[in-house]
Amino acid sequence: MTQLLNTYNRLPIAFTKGEGSWLIADNNQRYLDAIAGIAVVGLGHAHPNVCTAICEQANTLMHTSNIYQIPLQEALGSQLCDISGAEAAFLCNSGAEANEAALKIARLYGHQLGVEKPTIVVMDGAFHGRTLATLSASGSRKVQAGFEPLVSGFIRCPFNDIDALKTIINTNSSIVAVMVEPIQGEGGVRVADPDYLLQLREICNQQNWLLMLDEIQTGNGRTGKYFAYQHSTIMPDVLTTAKGLGNGFPIGACLAFEKAAPIFSPGNHGTTFGGNPLACRVGLSVINEINHTTFYQHVNAMSEQLMAALKNALQEETGVKNIRGQGLMIGIELDQPCGELVKMALDENLLINVTADKVIRLLPALTIQFEQIELLTKKLIPLVKQFLAKPV
Ligand SMILES: *Cc1c(COP(=O)(O)O)cnc(C)c1O
Repeated sequence: MTQLLNTYNRLPIAFTKGEGSWLIADNNQRYLDAIAGIAVVGLGHAHPNVCTAICEQANTLMHTSNIYQIPLQEALGSQLCDISGAEAAFLCNSGAEANEAALKIARLYGHQLGVEKPTIVVMDGAFHGRTLATLSASGSRKVQAGFEPLVSGFIRCPFNDIDALKTIINTNSSIVAVMVEPIQGEGGVRVADPDYLLQLREICNQQNWLLMLDEIQTGNGRTGKYFAYQHSTIMPDVLTTAKGLGNGFPIGACLAFEKAAPIFSPGNHGTTFGGNPLACRVGLSVINEINHTTFYQHVNAMSEQLMAALKNALQEETGVKNIRGQGLMIGIELDQPCGELVKMALDENLLINVTADKVIRLLPALTIQFEQIELLTKKLIPLVKQFLAKPV
């Protein structure tokens, strides 16, 4: 028993050191990390340039306050805007906070249009965070159960289903925005159809709704572009990101594009810690590593290798329903709950994740190497076969 609130079922292991795609446990064993702190440590553990940025900045200046100018925050905001085409950024400390900012922008936007009870369309299976507003926006009863009354002002729609969204248009005149993940992460690595975002953009334009993309998990190089929406031709109105932006240092960002940028005024929103010099220096160092053609080429090459090996070995297996993903965000959907595989893999010194009960989720460091992908598949494939061969 620890004196920690009972919020996690933790695996019986603790790590003391990390090196790239490896974690070293307190038993001195090495574990191949195919989850990277749930898409956080994209550059691998203890990345030298990120470590240097942290140490130098911690030795210089960590925190002032948002009541002063913060040049490093301006620099990070401008980098994120250059990459995405956004007009302005709000820096915060987590994904949920980035989404809270987005939801507040949508509400203000609605009120500025004279909508009395602005309503935001959110998706089945979505995950947007654990604060009251973001859990209310999430599409999983597990996340919401016990926390009623939920925050109102959300209307739910099936993910990746434009026709369903079209039927909602006429049922509610208070809709002001749509919030969606380009690929649902916690929801089971569910990839939308290629033209889904395009159609969403079109509807949002027609209806004068904000299109708000939650790229907290899909951002920062994870899918082989800096942001997942960049695989399409559209631009969102609001975009949130976090996880990979700090490589383990807590940071989040809410980016506002043309239509959404003028909505906040001083006093509407704020944060004590968000955007401090240390966090922003770290974010800049992470972007400096990721935002190169050669980096994305590496992610895509590793993705192809991993996908091909998994599909080759598992696609025809009874019990494997689907292997899908983009970049290094990959899901293997089985026909049965498979949480047990996490422990089986741990026994083989491999760290994986299972989400939505039946989906093995792989989110390795984006810097993972060819030989490490080989080792990952060499360990994982027999485990999946062994698991599926077991009598139910
Ligand atoms: C992880 C995640 C969040 C929540 O981020 P926190 O930093 O845990 O608050 C929100 N949306 C998506 C898509 C996520 O993957």
